[in-house]
Parts: sequence; C-alpha cells; structure tokens
Amino acid sequence: VLPIPDDKRFQELDDDGFQFACHPDVACFNQCCRGLKLFLTPYDVLRLKNRLGLSSDEFIDRHTMIRPGQNGWPQPLLKMTDTYERTCPFVSDQGCTVYDDRPGACRSYPLGRGARGGQAGGSQEELFFLVREDHCQGFEQGPHWSPQTWSADQGLEEYNQINDLFLPLITRPPKLVPPPAARKMAEMFFLATYNLDLFGRMVRESDLLKRFQVPPQRVQAMLQDEVELMKFGFDWLGFTIFGDRTLTPTTG
Ligand code: SF4
Ligand code: SF4
Repeated sequence: VLPIPDDKRFQELDDDGFQFACHPDVACFNQCCRGLKLFLTPYDVLRLKNRLGLSSDEFIDRHTMIRPGQNGWPQPLLKMTDTYERTCPFVSDQGCTVYDDRPGACRSYPLGRGARGGQAGGSQEELFFLVREDHCQGFEQGPHWSPQTWSADQGLEEYNQINDLFLPLITRPPKLVPPPAARKMAEMFFLATYNLDLFGRMVRESDLLKRFQVPPQRVQAMLQDEVELMKFGFDWLGFTIFGDRTLTPTTG
C-alpha cells in the first residue's frame, strides 16, 4: 500500500466505484501489454516461474533485468521483447498466455491501492484510486465494480496479502553501511525474496534454522510450501537487516 502517485492519470475512487470491461473485442486489446516498466514482486516471480516450469534462477535470468527498485533495493524488472513495440514476452494475439499467474499489477489495473496518514506512527487509512491510461477504452462499459468485487474477480486478494508482508521490507531504505556490507545486505534481500529456490536450499542445507526458535509445524510447512518459505524469508530479513522481532534467536 503506497501513497497515491501525484499524476493526473490517478483519480481517487469515490463510493460509487467504477465501470470497466476488458475483453478481446475492445479496440485497444493487448495495447497495454507493451512498453511496460513492471517491477515484479516476490510472489509474482513465484507464480510465474512455476507457471513456466522454471527455477527462480532461470526465470530471473531469462525474463528479468535486476535494477534498483523501491528505496534502491534490487528488484527484477520484467524484460520486454526486443521488438519495435517492446511487447510483454507473455502476450499473444489471443491475450495473456500466463493469465492465471499474471503479475499483481496486471490483475489490479485500473484499480490502485493507496494509503493516507501513517506519519509519526499514526494509523493508516487504506484508499483506492483509478488509473486511467489514455489508450484504454475499458471505461464506461461493462459491469460496475467496487474495489472489493474487482479484487475478488481478478484473484487479487492472495497477491495483496502476500505483497503486504513484503512492504515492511521494501518501504524501508537499507541501513547506511560500508559498501561491502551494503552489497551483502542487497544479496541477502534478493536471495530471500526473489531467488526462493536457492533460499530454500540454504534453509535445508545450512544451520540457519538452528539459529532461531522456529516451531516444528512452521518448519514442516515451509519445507513443503513455497509461500510459507517466502513468509519465513521476509521474517528472516526483517530480523537480520532491520533488527525487527520477527524471529527469536536460540540461546546458548
Ligand atoms: S503478464 Fe500478461 S497481462 Fe501482464 S503485461 Fe504480460 S501479457 Fe499483459
Ligand atoms: S488498454 Fe484497457 S481495455 Fe484495452 S486491453 Fe488494456 S486494460 Fe483492456
């Protein structure tokens, strides 16, 4: 959840919700799947790499470029094709070929989530806004949506839930430390968020788990379920990078 960007394309949503439809018969079909600057979240990468039958490493190498993202943390940017139109590698004439596993940003459009308040430790109010791209002809037609019905229809809830657990990491800048320590911190961040297959191997093969009090049920769950492993990775980074009390170290 981020502040609403200061851009005329972004409009705060009122209680009336919005009308929208996107389907192969709109004149602009597929127009939005090109020339994108789309930073992927860890959960986007997890869904896409499994969809494509690739390891995290293979997916990152083949389909992304690692760039400084929010607060300078390394994040994978989806690589567009090397064509004049710079189309998304997953678009076809029939639409998105990874539709059931498309990134959260693709699901969400034209709805955005923002937050108001939260300064000086105050509480934050969640709010929604619309993004109106000039070329998009999906407005003023089709069903009427509230943010909740749109999110449910697009399968966004699971994405939002997991992405919200990532926010406490990505919304804080790295600590100011000498360059070798900064590099190490960035590597740890990328490993436990995006390179989940490698992180899983480290969890299984190193003594990392022995250094924390992790209930056996949680260990079992995260060794069987990549989403649970990802959540552990977020906690491990919160503890290791920011000193959060997300994990309890073993004593002695
Ligand atoms: S992942 Fe699918 S919906 Fe998203 S830009 Fe690519 S083709 Fe379009
Ligand atoms: S531009 Fe809008 S209506 Fe057209 S395909 Fe994209 S989301 Fe759908």
